[in-house]
Amino acid sequence: MTVLESLTPRRGLRVLITAGANGIGLAIAKAFQEAGARVHVCDIDTQALASLPKGITYTEANVSLEADVDRLFQDATALGGLDVVVNNAGIAGPTAGIDEVSPEAWTSTIDINLNGQYRIAHRAAPLLRKSQGLMINMASVAGRLGFAYRTPYAASKWAVVGLTKSLACELGPEGVRVNAILPGIVRGPRIEKVIKDRAAKREISYTEMEQENLFKISLRRMVEPNDIAAMALFLSAPGGANISGQALSVCANVESL
Ligand code: NAD
Repeated sequence: MTVLESLTPRRGLRVLITAGANGIGLAIAKAFQEAGARVHVCDIDTQALASLPKGITYTEANVSLEADVDRLFQDATALGGLDVVVNNAGIAGPTAGIDEVSPEAWTSTIDINLNGQYRIAHRAAPLLRKSQGLMINMASVAGRLGFAYRTPYAASKWAVVGLTKSLACELGPEGVRVNAILPGIVRGPRIEKVIKDRAAKREISYTEMEQENLFKISLRRMVEPNDIAAMALFLSAPGGANISGQALSVCANVESL
């Protein structure tokens, strides 16, 4: 195999992606499908699930509900095993000072962003041992930087990095790789809402807030969902075979948040 060939995943990979109906998850699902993988996703967005590209199978499932995650793994048995699991589901959580973060908002952010990844990892581990597979956990640059007014989100993403590194140590001797991807500011509706909320919090305009954000990025630009999908494909390709336990930023170099 040439180095160039080693950059492409083998065809027929069996891939499970959480929150695969929109945004980054959808970009990853499409990229794997294009690479010849068999892809199963879950999401809570019924409408978006119904309009997934032909051939991508799905389960309507909420990663914060044990019964839903059981059902997801039941449905995914149709793939005949799993080679790659992408723990992508995550919510932005509240934009608020710590005095105003309610217990409910704190708990739901941690429950979806961190406990959701536990629920998936708990069920995926035996399947990944069998296939000598790969788990990719979606963190964020908020998992390596402090993030004022977004403490539940940042705390959950730092925890995802800890989960990733610990699982990589634990499962590595059994041939399973575990990595985290840390996206920067990814272009799309989600980030537009985050900028809008932060602008309101700071009492400045959307454009001022956006410019302020871009100024904290060395390359002065957002990244695209496909940039994240490209990293997921590389990790799944033979060229990525010796990468595990890493927190890989794809962020145009976000220096602060
Ligand atoms: P998005 O909001 O565009 O899409 C998220 C998807 O998750 C939606 O389809 C939604 O229905 C689904 N979802 C929400 N809660 C769910 C749940 N409990 N169970 C199952 N599905 C659920 O988000 P995105 O921007 O594509 O983000 C994907 C991941 O990337 C998240 O973990 C996020 O924290 C991370 N991330 C995003 C950015 C960014 O700038 N967009 C930056 C860093 C990290």
